[in-house]
Formats: sequence, C-alpha cells, structure tokens
Amino acid sequence: MSNTKRVYTFGNGQAEGKADMKNLLGGKGANLAEMNLIGVPVPPGFTITTDVCSEYYSLGKDQVVALLKPEVEKALAGVEVLMNSKFGDVENPLLVSVRSGARASMPGMMDTILNLGLNDEVVEGLTRKTGNPRFVWDSYRRFVQMYGDVVLGMKPVNKNDIDPFEEIIEHVKEEKGVKLDTELNVNDLKELVAKFKAAVKKQTGKDFPDSAYEQLWGAVCAVFDSWMNDRAILYRKMEGIPAEWGTAVSVQSMVFGNMGNTSATGVCFSRDAATGEDQFVGEYLINAQGEDVVAGIRTPQQITKEGSQRWAKLAGISEADRLANYPSMEEAMPAIYKELDAIQTKLENHYKDMQDMEFTVQEGKLWFLQTRNGKRTGAAMVKIAVDMLRQGMIDEKTAILRVDPIRLDELLHPVFDKKALKEAKLIAKGLAASPGAASGRVVFNADDAADWAASGEKVIMVRVETSPEDLAGMAAAQGILTARGGMTSHAAVVARGMGKCCVSGAGTLKIDYTTKTMEVDGLVVKEGDYISLNGSTGDIFLGKVATMEAELDADFAELMTLADKHTRMTVRTNADTPHDAQVARKFGATGIGLCRTEHMFFEGEKIKAMREMILAEDEAGRRIALAKILPYQEADFEGIFEAMAGCPVTVRLLDPPLHEFVPHDEKGQREMAEAMGVSIKVIKQRVDSLHEQNPMLGHRGCRLGNTYPEITEMQTRAILGAALALKKKGIKVIPEIMVPLVGIKFEFIEQDTIIRETAAKLFAEKGDSIEFKVGTMIEIPRAALTAAKIAATAEFFSFGTNDLTQMTFGYSRDDIASFLPIYLEKKILKADPFQVLDQNGVGQLVKMATENGRAVNPSLKVGICGEHGGEPSSVEFCHRVGLNYVSCSPFRVPIARLAAAQAALRD
Ligand code: PEP
Ligand code: MG
Repeated sequence: MSNTKRVYTFGNGQAEGKADMKNLLGGKGANLAEMNLIGVPVPPGFTITTDVCSEYYSLGKDQVVALLKPEVEKALAGVEVLMNSKFGDVENPLLVSVRSGARASMPGMMDTILNLGLNDEVVEGLTRKTGNPRFVWDSYRRFVQMYGDVVLGMKPVNKNDIDPFEEIIEHVKEEKGVKLDTELNVNDLKELVAKFKAAVKKQTGKDFPDSAYEQLWGAVCAVFDSWMNDRAILYRKMEGIPAEWGTAVSVQSMVFGNMGNTSATGVCFSRDAATGEDQFVGEYLINAQGEDVVAGIRTPQQITKEGSQRWAKLAGISEADRLANYPSMEEAMPAIYKELDAIQTKLENHYKDMQDMEFTVQEGKLWFLQTRNGKRTGAAMVKIAVDMLRQGMIDEKTAILRVDPIRLDELLHPVFDKKALKEAKLIAKGLAASPGAASGRVVFNADDAADWAASGEKVIMVRVETSPEDLAGMAAAQGILTARGGMTSHAAVVARGMGKCCVSGAGTLKIDYTTKTMEVDGLVVKEGDYISLNGSTGDIFLGKVATMEAELDADFAELMTLADKHTRMTVRTNADTPHDAQVARKFGATGIGLCRTEHMFFEGEKIKAMREMILAEDEAGRRIALAKILPYQEADFEGIFEAMAGCPVTVRLLDPPLHEFVPHDEKGQREMAEAMGVSIKVIKQRVDSLHEQNPMLGHRGCRLGNTYPEITEMQTRAILGAALALKKKGIKVIPEIMVPLVGIKFEFIEQDTIIRETAAKLFAEKGDSIEFKVGTMIEIPRAALTAAKIAATAEFFSFGTNDLTQMTFGYSRDDIASFLPIYLEKKILKADPFQVLDQNGVGQLVKMATENGRAVNPSLKVGICGEHGGEPSSVEFCHRVGLNYVSCSPFRVPIARLAAAQAALRD
C-alpha cells in the first residue's frame, strides 16, 4: 500500500498524468494534466485519484487523510513555489479550488468548493495585497457559504427548504434596502460573514474552521462524500455508470479575474457553436469573476474585433460608442488576445474538435481553467465535421462518427425562432411524435382543416386521435395534435411520413368536438385560436410562435455521400404518394420499403367504391366494386413507380380492419345509403357487424386477402398492370408485393398462389411480363418463430416492428401513452419500445427469424419497415443482425443513412 501513488501533480508545463488517464484522474484531472503537457498555462495543482475514493469508502475518513497527508503536503508545496505564495499564509496566501471529476462527465452532480484558504486574518492580508477589499470580502462570504453548505452540511436536505445562508442574505439586503447582491458594500459583506459563521456555530455546534489544512481535508472528504449523494446515485443509475469508478478530486490554485483593469475573465469557442463557422468567438469581461459573464449583470464584450463589430451592428451601437465602452479583447488587451488566440488554435488542433474554453486573466497573466469538446447545434455538427475533414484534421471515419444522426433532424424540419420561443406560453406537453415546428389556427376535424387551408389559413388539426379518414386534413394542416395515442399511433406514423410536425398523446387536453374547444388546466382554446407545436420536444404553446425554414447545404450533401461510401445496408423509405417518394429520393432513399395501400382509398370516388365493396353482400357484389377501384389503384401505383423509377418498390396489400373505411356518423351513412340505393338501416347493420372488440387482433392483414381473395387479385392486377404500363414507356420498375400480418405459413402460401396465378393471367392478357418478388411482413411473433417454414416460399421478409412490438409486449400501440410515462419514470422501461427497438426481446425475434429464414433460403432479402427503421440505435442493431436494408419515413432517410454508416464503421 505504501507504494501506491495517490496524488498526481500538474503545473508549469509539467504533469504526472495525461489525457488517457481518465480512469484514474477523472475527466477533469486528466484534461488539466494534458493541457499542461502541451504548454497551455493552467493554474497549478494536483489530482487525488479515483482509487482513493474507493479507499475512502473502505477505510474511512481518518485513515485516508493519514495516507494522503504526505503526498498532498508535498504537492501543495510545489504549487506554492509555482504561485509564489503560501497556503494559509496571512500576507501572501495561496487560495485553492477543490473539485470533483469522475471518469464520465456527471455535470453538476457532485460538489465543488472555491476560494479555500481564507479566514479572518488572511482576508486582511489579502486586502492589503490586492487593495481591493470588496473583492476579498465577497470571495470570503462566498467561501463560507459554499463550505458551510457542502462540507458542514448546512445545505437543506429538502428541495423546498431555504438555505440558511440565502435567508441571511435576503435579510441583510432588505435591511440595507438593496435588491442585488452586487449592491452590498464591504461592510455589508463583513456583516454577512459574521452572521454566516454564527449560523454555522448555532447549527453545527462548532466554530467555522480557520486552519487552511483543516478546510482542505474537510473539502476533499466532502467531494468523496458527494459521490454517494442521492443526485449522483440517481444519475449513475440512469447513465449506467458503476459506483466502483469513484470520483477524483482536483485541487487547483485559484486565479482571479476581478483584481483590477489588467484582469479579466471569459468563455470562448474555437469555432462558432451555432453555425459551425470556422471562426474564433467568445465573450469576456474586464475586472470580473467567471460567473459575472453568465449572470447578465454586465454586458459581456466580444473577444475578436470582427465579432465585436458584428455585435455592435446588431445592437445598434455606433463604432465610437463600441470602442469607448465595449471594445473587443483584440483591441483592449492585444497581447493577451494574441496569446489566447494561439492557445485556442493549439487546443483545437490537439483535441481535433471544436473546443469550449474558460479562461481568466489575473493582473496581465492568462490562465486556462478548462477546455472541453464544445456542445453545438445540429448544423454546426455537420459543418465542423466536414470542414475538419477538408482541413485534414480528421479522417472520414471520424467525421462520420462525429455527427449524432438524431441531430440531423434539426436540419430537415422547420424550427422555432429562438427569440420567439422565449416569450411563448407553454400550455401542455405531449409525445414528440414527429419533429419540426408549426404554428396555426386550431381546427377540430379533417374537413375544416382542408377547407381552412384551401382558403389560405395555416391550421393545426387537433383530434382525440386520428384515423385514415383524417388523411386529407392532416396533409393540409401545418401540424397535428392528438390527446391519445403513442409513437406508432396513426397520427404519429402518418405525420412522420409526411414530414409534418406532430405532438401525440397529450393526455391533459380535454377535446370537445361539439363545442369545438379544447381545455387544458382551465384554459379554453377555441376553434380559430392560434397554437404552436414543437414536434421535437412535445411542447404545446398558446399563440403564434415564429418559425424558420431549414436549408440543406453542400456540407450536408458531402456528409451523406461520405456515409454511403462506408455503409453496408441500404436505406429505403416508407411512402404512399409520389410526392413522399420524391422527397425521400431527394434525401437519398434507394427504394420504397413499405407502400401502405390503404391510404389510397380515401380520396373522392375511391372511398365510395371501397365502401361499396365492404358493404357488398357477396363475392359478386365485391367484384363489381373492386372493378371500379382497379383503375384508380393502377394510376396510384404508376405515380409511385415513376417517382421511384429504377428502384425497388415494396407494395403491401390491404392491411387495416375494414371498419376503418366505413362511415360511423349518421350523415356519412345516409350518403352511403343513397349512393348504394339501400336503406340506411342496411348500412347501419353492416357497419355494426364490422365492429370488433379488438380490431388490431381482428379481421385485418392477410386475413382479409384470404377471406376475400378478390381483393388480393385486384391489387395484384393494379400493381403489375401499372408496372407493365410504365415498362411500355421505358421506365424501369422493380415491384415487390408484400403480404401483411402473416402468422402461419399457409396464410402466406395461399396469398402467394393467388398473386402468382393472377400475374400469370394478366401477363397472358397483356402479352408482356415483368419480374416481381412476393414476400411477407414479419410482424406477428408466430411468423418470427416459424420463419424457416415461411422462408421456403417467401422471397423477402420485412419486419413490421410496430406490430411485432405490439404483439411481443402485448402493449396496444395506440394506447401506450396511458402508462408509458410512469413506466419510463419508474425505469420499468428504459425507452418507448415503439420508438427504440427492444433488442433483448423483439430484437431477438428479428435476429432469429433472419438467421432461420436465410438458413433455408440463402437469397432471402431482409429489411425492416416499422418505425424503428429510422431510429439510430435500432438501425445499428439491424446492421449487426445482417439485414439488407432499413426503411423509414422520408424525413428520417438521412438519419438512417448516417446511422447505417456509423454501424458499419463501428462493426
Ligand atoms: C408494422 O407493423 O411495423 C408496420 C410497418 O405496419 P403498420 O405500421 O402499417 O401496421
Ligand atoms: Mg403492421
């Protein structure tokens, strides 16, 4: 044990640690060491290892302090030499900060103590030394407060209780008649310190410690203790960070930016975090402390002259005013600026990523306090990765892996104007069902949505839930809001397909169709009122919030090309209209993985013929109606095939239960009766007979095609007829016919036979033929379990993971919103399984069915067309289990392309 090294020093260009020692020194400690090694001026200090944290929990405080003492004293002596001051000295004191730092970043979870080393005597000495009593006393009162809270346990346990120190501050401010802490003078601050100490004595029964070393040991142990505070434990649990890792403790010399006009403090970025522009940007304040820059009390100044001029122009400040009152650091402190600029370049080159840095200038000397890879917008993420690749800083692999696929969403959909969002009133929250931002006037049904939109209004369609009947209204609306339904509810799936903003399952909304109002927490929103939706967060705002259109640029295109170069799987799209197919192609889709035919039956004459078919008494009646539908279907398929010319298009046969197509309201039923020349009673009876207790498990999917083979025949004729028509025009079509909801191999064999016989007849009639494939969705657990049997006949599998998730978990995809939030909160579920593929359960069915299917049919093509096909972690899983492609809604195609490339690169 005596040989164990527990303390690693850094300072003056030397360090005992380095960047790759995060496990032992924590992220912060390793980074501080690394910065020293590459010649960045960092206030000297030392890091106590994460192993000591484990010792602390096994041996206890006294033993650990005894073990640490010789090394810590020696390290501090080194810091004293470098800083030319002494820890605990009255005339020339060294003050330190004590900070936590785990292997993985745990922002704000553990404790920090600043300005350590002050006491009543040191304060006087430091005042003499700095000539700045306010700065010194302010530092002292902050220290006593922080130390009292963190080390002496004065911080209230309950969130709602008031911090005793804050209570004292409020009292004193009231007495002095001031509002802000900054308005307190030196005497007020002295009074505060005295009162703070009295409070400590009263609550703990002990005096506030005066000895610098006693303060230090208290602080070090408090940081170790904070590893086990409730916040940190919960955070670790959420992030999967093991408790054994422990935290390191970094003790570092304090530097002050508030020691007069040759001192300053600031924050800077090596590139613009908002746009990604390769431009050094940042803000600073002369004679200020770090927190003043963010506190908004003083207006921070820009670091570069260019930035400063741009800022002044926006703020309407004249050049003379700017130079006199808000000069850039480049102008006000040219020498320091030069050094700062050189170091930021060095740090970026060293870490090969955009850096977010904090610095302090103490009496003309520049110190770096921190550097880390900077957070950035989705647009900046793409630009920085592509620029750095062009600049030769990173390779293709790094560039691709640097971009978070999900963040591409920000580039594809309209977004709210940030300023406008700040003033918006949030009224409720739902599920973030389909990203984007939308504002419009509230309407409560699809007809109104279509009518209002036709007269030029922007509308938000609000429904309890949507059904295929609402399609035209959804298409006309800017956004869709539902009170019920999860992430794979009709509203969510269709909205994503359209690239339309949607918030679903907002359970607090009380929607009343008769009065055309919705109520939330006592607030009534009427038809015609403006609301705004953020489909990326689920936020619902009252009123109109300004939005901005997203633009795709050359950097985005370059990233996508790069992704395709490194990928194995291809990316198709789920699309049922030529428009969606075109959008998806523009985003790089190489085919359609799922064309849902049911949406084609809702326009004009088609729905009439469809209803006639459903309500027909017998096969003959159905055939008459189907003959009317055929030309429409054929025209629809021609449009889609043409939009996807040269690419495979998987068309799925009719899937939803028939009751979704019939009118449930009196008016609709009356119209129906008239059109069909029967009494309304007949219509009502037929509609009633279609009612099912559990339609999701009812008469739908291939059960329709097997009970009414004439539907499959008509659809096959339409699909292959359209393909032949285009072939004649010289357009290449690769049709794939997909049977939905198969659970038994005979269900598939029946359908396959009908399709092939119909095709043979059609080809004979037309004197022409075309190649096509027949395959099946795997969306019922039994189909996955018997995949080997089904694959003997099927040419392809497409995993319908929406239904497969529904039936594997036994969760209704339309009703999960009622319990999902609680399940997520209680961590029973880690994520919504309808969004993120459940790899342990549903995923195992996918894996097994793929392997077993390929074992009997090695050329079996396998893809996924459930909503998971556009979710990065699910895409990665699909890659790992060897799928040929993923298929997702058009706006997710770029996300899936990038995720697929990342999966291949990580493999
Ligand atoms: C599925 O079930 O995953 C699927 C793609 O089909 P649908 O969402 O239309 O039921
Ligand atoms: Mg399905």
